[in-house]
Amino acid sequence: MEIRYKTPLILLAILALVASGSAYWTAARKGERCAFDGAFVRPTAAIRLTTVEGMVAVFDSIACAQRWMQNRQPGIRSLTVPDAVSGQPIDASAAVYGKGPASGRIRAFAREEDLEQFLRWSKGEAVANPFGAPTERVTSP
Ligand SMILES: [Zn+2]
Repeated sequence: MEIRYKTPLILLAILALVASGSAYWTAARKGERCAFDGAFVRPTAAIRLTTVEGMVAVFDSIACAQRWMQNRQPGIRSLTVPDAVSGQPIDASAAVYGKGPASGRIRAFAREEDLEQFLRWSKGEAVANPFGAPTERVTSP
């Protein structure tokens, strides 16, 4: 009788696992959510912004970071984006950017040759730094 009672709960748990995928759980353990839309952020996809006031905001995509910054116009002390190849954080002003035609998602690359390879493979296009030129940013308080 007890088994019958528990079965729907187990099914629900399995459904939840399948629906959300492993990236969700990896990020959930770390507990970081996108400051713009609340989505869980994979550590290798995290965009990290530190404002001149010392506030840290994490985003799951460049688009989310752009929208959040448009709303708030923060003074930026540091901004890192994940290298699309290695997942390692790199300074946003040092990265090069491209987007694929399918997703339209902007990706950051630490190395120019990685961007070129991505563009050849995806038939995408290079885009300007989505956060603006480094000189437009406040770099010190
Ligand atoms: Zn987001």
